[in-house]
Formats: sequence, structure tokens, C-alpha cells
Amino acid sequence: EQKKRKPGSYAVYSQEYYDALQEELMLRDGLRNAIANNELSLCYQPIIEAEGDAIWSVEALLRWNFDGKPVSPAVFIPLAEKSGLISDIGNWVLHRACIDAAQWQFTRASVSVNVSVIQLMDDSFISSLDKVLLSSGLAPERLHIEITESVFADNQEKVLAQINAVKQRNIQISIDDFGTGFSSLSQLQSLSFDHIKIDRAFVQNLEEGSDTIIRATVFIAKEFRCKTVAEGIETQAHAERLKSMGVDCLQGYLFAKPMTNNALPEWCKQFAKRTKN
Ligand code: C2E
Ligand code: MG
Ligand code: MG
Ligand code: MG
Repeated sequence: EQKKRKPGSYAVYSQEYYDALQEELMLRDGLRNAIANNELSLCYQPIIEAEGDAIWSVEALLRWNFDGKPVSPAVFIPLAEKSGLISDIGNWVLHRACIDAAQWQFTRASVSVNVSVIQLMDDSFISSLDKVLLSSGLAPERLHIEITESVFADNQEKVLAQINAVKQRNIQISIDDFGTGFSSLSQLQSLSFDHIKIDRAFVQNLEEGSDTIIRATVFIAKEFRCKTVAEGIETQAHAERLKSMGVDCLQGYLFAKPMTNNALPEWCKQFAKRTKN
């Protein structure tokens, strides 16, 4: 078989490419029916105040169980964006998260919902948001919207208009994965956001002794008068370092892994006990 192939032939790559394509088509197809088939669910991960030890917010993280197997959001969110499904899926997430948060008895913390920029730019996004707030009864002050930084590169004006419409409703905005994208400081200055989330990669860099980016981010955030949240904290040492650098809020496996809505009350109870003494 190998001998028959001519030099310069692309056959070597084609099987892999074909498999990847098949896989993608299968996932896209599955995703189309994910809502109807009840395959989507949300997990919740608490975000802690560095000083004071209160729960600051709880991030909603989408899960997809396809054919009995979990598919990572890092895989299916980009697919949903490419195939025009992100607005439907994103609306499902917003609706579910706001309904859950409105019913939390054990915390008044806000809920942080990830919104894809494609979803944000959809003409119906703001009216969907209003509908969700109305039907869930959640106070808009208790909703945070997380938007990934990398997306601010194009269509600045529309992004600005949409973000301003969100802000007018007293919903707060977090810039997610800060430092990994392409937005310039001047672009960031023109956006009125409330929090900067420091990407997990920079927290992991602490292992190699590098804290430059975190220090710079904390400085920038202070200039912009917004809060800093560090993601992906797995060790007590990282938590202490970040606290001493002036990071406001902390999130990571050290405190809690993402959990079901049902598990949240018990976790909050245990957390309150731990922080009291
Ligand atoms: P993200 O918004 O930056 O979320 C943080 C990710 O880090 C989550 O992964 C979370 O489970 C994980 N994480 C939290 N603490 C730790 C830790 O201490 N160590 C490690 N190793 N990981 C930690 P997840 O749930 O797999 O989500 C991945 C990404 O998918 C999210 O990154 C977000 O960009 C996207 N995503 C998730 N849910 C949604 C959604 O409802 N809508 C949209 N548009 N995107 C979503
Ligand atoms: Mg996020
Ligand atoms: Mg992030
Ligand atoms: Mg991310």
C-alpha cells in the first residue's frame, strides 16, 4: 500500500482529516437536538472573595451529555458558534441559570453566565435577556455576563452598543480569559466592564515563578476601577500569592469543582461553617 503512493501524495493526511470531519459532523448533528433531547445541563462553581471569605458569585458552566458521554464545552461551544446554534443554546443557558439563581435560598451571590460574542451580537440578544429577567424574576444586579476577551477585535461599534444595552439593565460584565486575546488597551478602555478574569494559564505560571502578567493585570484593573478574579486556583500557595498581589476574588478546584445545582446548598453550608471559625 505504502509503495503505491506517489511522492508528494496527500493520502497520508486524508484518513485523519476524514475522521476529524466525520466526528465534527456527528457532533454538529447531535448538538442540533441537544436541547430537545434534554442532554444539556449546568454545573455551578463558586467564586470566593479573597478578603472576607464570602461567596462573591457562582459561575454557570454548560455540560453536554451526548450518547451517554460528556463532550467538553471547549469542543462543542466553537461548533455551536460555527453552526448557528449558539444563540439557542446560549438562551437556554441564560434561562436555566437565572431560574436556578432566583431560587437559591442559601446565598444571595450573583450568577455568572458565559456569553459567546456571536450570541451577544445577535439582534435578538437584548430582548431575550429582558424576557429571561422577567420570567425568572432574578434581580439584574445578580446577573454577571462573562465575555471572552479575544472577541473584541472586530466590529467594535456593535460590541459597544450591545454591551451598553446590557449595562443599562444593571447587569455587570466580566472580561473572561483576560490576556489571552487580541484586544488593545484602548479598545478595553472604551468598554465599560466591571471585572477582569485572569486566565488559569497565568495562575499556572506562578509555578515557574512568573507573576508579571498577574501584577500588570491587577494594576490595569485598578486603573479601570474594576475587580479582578483569578481562575484555576488549585493550591493554597496560589491562593495566598494572589491575595497578597491584591486579586479580589478567587475561583478554582481548591475551593470547589463545578457541581450540580442540587449539590450547591450543602457546599454553601459547609463553606459558611469553615469560614466562621
Ligand atoms: P471559562 O469560562 O474560562 O471557565 C473556566 C473553566 O476552567 C471551566 O472549564 C472550569 O471547569 C475550569 N476550571 C475551574 N477551576 C479550575 C481549576 O482549578 N483547575 C482546572 N484545571 N480547571 C478549572 P469548562 O467547564 O470545561 O469550560 C470551558 C470553557 O467553555 C469556559 O471557560 C467557557 O469559555 C466555555 N463555556 C462553558 N460554559 C459555557 C456557556 O454556557 N456558554 C459559553 N458561550 N461558553 C461556555
Ligand atoms: Mg467564564
Ligand atoms: Mg476563563
Ligand atoms: Mg475559557
